[in-house]
Amino acid sequence: MLETHKADVLVAGQGAAAFAAALYAARYQLSTIIVSESFGGETAIGGLIENYPGTPDIDGFDLMLKFKEQVDNLEVPTISRNLVAVEPDGDRFICTLDGGDIVDAGSVILCVGRERRTLGLPNEEEWTGKGVSYCSTCDAPLYRNKEAAAVVGGGNAATEGAILLARYAKHVYLIYRGDELWRPEPIQLKVLSQVPNIRVLLGTTVTELIGTDLAGLTGIRISRPMDDNETVKIHPEQTEPLNKSREDDHGKDVIDLDGIFIEAGADPRLEVPNMLGLDLNEETGEVHVDRGQRTSVPGIYAAGDLTDGTSLKQTVTAASQGAIAALSAYGYVLAGEHHYEAA
Ligand SMILES: Cc1cc2nc3c(=O)[nH]c(=O)nc-3n(C[C@H](O)[C@H](O)[C@H](O)COP(=O)(O)OP(=O)(O)OC[C@H]3O[C@@H](n4cnc5c(N)ncnc54)[C@H](O)[C@@H]3O)c2cc1C
Repeated sequence: MLETHKADVLVAGQGAAAFAAALYAARYQLSTIIVSESFGGETAIGGLIENYPGTPDIDGFDLMLKFKEQVDNLEVPTISRNLVAVEPDGDRFICTLDGGDIVDAGSVILCVGRERRTLGLPNEEEWTGKGVSYCSTCDAPLYRNKEAAAVVGGGNAATEGAILLARYAKHVYLIYRGDELWRPEPIQLKVLSQVPNIRVLLGTTVTELIGTDLAGLTGIRISRPMDDNETVKIHPEQTEPLNKSREDDHGKDVIDLDGIFIEAGADPRLEVPNMLGLDLNEETGEVHVDRGQRTSVPGIYAAGDLTDGTSLKQTVTAASQGAIAALSAYGYVLAGEHHYEAA
């Protein structure tokens, strides 16, 4: 039988932003319900987390268990169903969950994160955390003194990732299918051309991930053999050719690697935001929020990777935004406060 629940705040998601939002909302004495069918979000699949303050070297899944335990202690119920629709109804919101249950909520905090773009190759999912990573900011330090790692992608995240990774791994490949890096920041191009241990492979795709389930990734196959005589320019204005080869790279289409970072971008989950007609950031496509994590619709808040609150997409920033969103929801539920600052 379908059920209708009532709450001051509905929190959508079970990642860092959501648990922090629920923790703060419950401590503001707001009746709070979490809805989401999948536990832990990206942090839970991120492997070792070394940069969450106060908990050095913790597995992401265990960190999320701690987040959840703290919320469970405040008796916040979790419904294991995704949010599929939200309709304003006077000053409340009728929230429909997958399967048909309804939550009649005084406010909504959206913490549904992003969908990572993958390469779509066999074993990519299975070897995530075993040599395959989607976050160079997070995992580059794990490659200290490793022989070789690659970054796939041509945007700023990929360029930044390669530069960061080159501080740890001995050899770094930046692999991009286009003939030119995509709208790189000039300062990054300059740095990229100065880092001696990065080799840029343009017009190249990764066609196979090589390894075993036990060892994880040990290498990749690329779409064309490496050519040491080729001049690689990373930007039309750049005159210095950029092709720093490893001694024995020439002619190879298989590269032995300790790890690969797929930095092909991520898409914010916009089904519900679009349904509500929330303002989006024109450049990034993320949900626009102001300093209070307010969206353009009074009573609707958003936090974490879904939003343009910060370009530093991390567990610590997601949690911080969740807490701020709860404070704004508190003001709205108690007194109808919502002073949204547009972009
Ligand atoms: C491989 C990897 C390693 C990482 N390592 C680190 C690290 O070392 N340190 C660090 O600080 N950060 C790291 N990050 C980044 C960090 O994990 C993210 O910034 C953080 O998880 C963002 O939290 P979030 O709550 O915004 O979103 P997410 O963690 O993505 O959570 C989104 C939640 O929403 C749920 N959801 C989706 N759709 C719906 C719906 N319709 N209804 C309800 N729920 C829904 C999802 O199931 C999930 O529970 C890593 C990321 C990756 C991918």
